[in-house]
Formats: sequence, C-alpha cells, structure tokens
Amino acid sequence: MADPYAWLTPALTTIHRAQWHRTLEPVGGKAGPVVELGGQRVINFASNDYLGLAGDERLMAAAMAATAAHGTGSTGSRLTSGHRELHRDLEEAIAHLKQTEDAIVFSSGYLANLGAIAAVVGPRDGVMGDRYNHSSLKLGAKLSGATVYEFPHGDLGALTQLLQEHRGQHRRCLITTDSVFSMDGDLAAVPELLAIAAQYEAMVLIDEAHGTGVFGPRGAGVVEHCGCSGQPLIQVGTLSKALGSLGGYVAGSGELIDFLRNRAPSWIYTTGLSPADTAAAREAIALLPTEPQRRAQLWRNVDRVKQILGQSFPLLPSASPILCIELQSPAQALHLAAQCRQGGIWVPAIRPPTVPTSRLRFSMMATHNEDHFQQLLQVIESLSP
Ligand SMILES: *Cc1c(COP(=O)(O)O)cnc(C)c1O
Repeated sequence: MADPYAWLTPALTTIHRAQWHRTLEPVGGKAGPVVELGGQRVINFASNDYLGLAGDERLMAAAMAATAAHGTGSTGSRLTSGHRELHRDLEEAIAHLKQTEDAIVFSSGYLANLGAIAAVVGPRDGVMGDRYNHSSLKLGAKLSGATVYEFPHGDLGALTQLLQEHRGQHRRCLITTDSVFSMDGDLAAVPELLAIAAQYEAMVLIDEAHGTGVFGPRGAGVVEHCGCSGQPLIQVGTLSKALGSLGGYVAGSGELIDFLRNRAPSWIYTTGLSPADTAAAREAIALLPTEPQRRAQLWRNVDRVKQILGQSFPLLPSASPILCIELQSPAQALHLAAQCRQGGIWVPAIRPPTVPTSRLRFSMMATHNEDHFQQLLQVIESLSP
C-alpha cells in the first residue's frame, strides 16, 4: 500500500527549491529594541511592538494582577463560562478610543477578520478587496462564501469599475482594506474609499492592525488620522502590535457588534481572551492618550531610519513605521538579511508568496535610540548586495 503522506517530501522539496522555506528561531530576553538571537545581542527591526509596550512594566504588572485575581485561563467561550468584567471593560475602552458605539474583542486579529467578514456577507454577496490585503481579510472573504473580487493595489478607479459592474448582482457588498499595508508600509486612501462605498451602498471594513496606537492625534488609527472617525464602517484591529498584548477587535455601531455576538463563529465557538492578555491590552489603551510622546518619538525614529536606509537603497513608498528595501530575488534578500544579522541588526527577509517581490522589512519602535541607529548605519554602509 502506498503511503498517503508520501506527497509531503516532494511538496517540501518544491518549497526549498524556490527559497521559500521558513524555519523558527527562538528570541531571548524581554520584548524590546534589543533582544537575543542564537546567543547574539541584536537590534530588533523585526517587531510590531511600535510603541515598545510589550515589555512595559505597567502592562506586565496589569497582566500579573489579572492572573492573580482570575487565574490563567478564561475557561470557556464568552457566551458560557468565559466572560469577565475585564473583557467588557476592555471593549468599552476600545469603543471609546475608536469613537464608536461599541466593540467586541476576539482571540486574535486574524479571528476578528474571519468572524466579522463571514458574519456580514454570505453567498449572495460580494467582497471587493485590495490585492495587498492581509491574509486574514482574503481568507475571511473566501470562507464567507461571497463572490470575491480583487482590485490592483490602491487602484480606486478599478474598485469603482468593479462596483459599477457587479454591485447590482449582489444583495450586499463589502469593501475590505488594510489601513496600513503590512508588508509595504503605505496607507489606504480612507476618505476616498468611503466616498466611493457610499455611492454604491457598500459596507467598508478597515483593518487597523498596524494603524492602532500609531496614527491619529489620540492614537486611534488611520481612520482618526484621516478625520473619518464617526463614519459608518467596520473597524478591525489587533491588540498584538502597538498595544503589546494578544487579541483582536471589531469596533462599530451597536447593532453591528450585537449582530457579531450572535453570528461570528470565530467569537462564539472559541475561548475568551485570557485575563492577562485582556488586562495588558486595557492598560495599553489607557496609556495611548496620556503618552503622546511615544508616538512623537516613533515618528522621529522613522525619519531617521528612512534617511539611513535611503542613502544606500531604494525604498518602497511608505507613510508608516514599516520601511522596505526592495530587492531582486529571495536569495538576495536572504543574503542581505544574513549580513545584517552578522552585524547585530535583526531584519526579516520577506519573500514570496507573502509578497510579490522580495524585500528587507524594517519596523521601527519608539524605544529605538541613536546608539541603535549608529550601528544600523555602519552595517547598512558595509553591505555588499
Ligand atoms: C497582524 C495582522 C492581522 C492579524 O492580527 P493578529 O492579532 O496577529 O492575529 C490582521 N490584519 C493585519 C493587516 C495584520 O497585519
């Protein structure tokens, strides 16, 4: 009898041959701008911890106090045994930050997208998404059973054309976009997108995974940055990036959130967020409006690193703390990432199929300092592509 798992060997060989193979490497030390990798001290340009909150003493204290009071696990779905005052408090804080009527917390940003999209559209509906959208938006659209249309990255003319041609065939339409494109660092044109959606009676879901905590005068995200708070839309995001914890959320109208509590399977049939994660995220949200200097420092650091990288390499257009050097091949990206690593600079090589072209992706933190940048400068100047 043939081995039913024999296909795995040639499948893995194909992944290796394309230089697409990934492996895991444990990070040592506390989350921060300097960590340990393979016993070496490296400067961390690989993290989504934009404000440096994942290692903040206050978040850690909040997580430990919540664990001491409630235990480690939330023990069940929110609808059964897993709902705590802590969860509701966090949801109210998110709604306040986003200036929406309500919010709902999921176990991750990925699950928030899967749940929200599958709840609001179905087989009779259409989803129009930017080609560079995050995997969770794409998979959510697919799982919903709706007809899925993709438009070229940032091409609102193409989106309008899709709506013109297909809006009439569908009961409901949903437009999905990242607010900050996670592998490029550029922004969606939120006001223009909302105007087009209104014209065609389409819903809009904006994924603020990389926007929350980073953009806007109060750190609410790109929607706030663009002056679009208060408009009818579905705002999704994560507690796992600038907020330094784990989990995801949807913020929107009271009716939308009530509907999701009743119809989002990735919320109903999964365990509630742990007390520690919930309390840490709650603490981070409390700090956003009171510590604007973190955002100001982050943006100064972005300018500094843009200058350092831009001297030697072409950068992809970015308006965020994500800065990418675009490269010719996966092999070149791996080669340069290895050279950086030897010089104590940790930057990931991002390759297909995650992105269409290979790149080094630097992400900035508010807690990087000039010493870190001096070392980066030295290494960048010594690179031989
Ligand atoms: C990281 C990310 C997510 C997933 O969030 P998690 O909380 O890590 O699951 C969703 N959307 C975008 C755009 C992201 O970058």
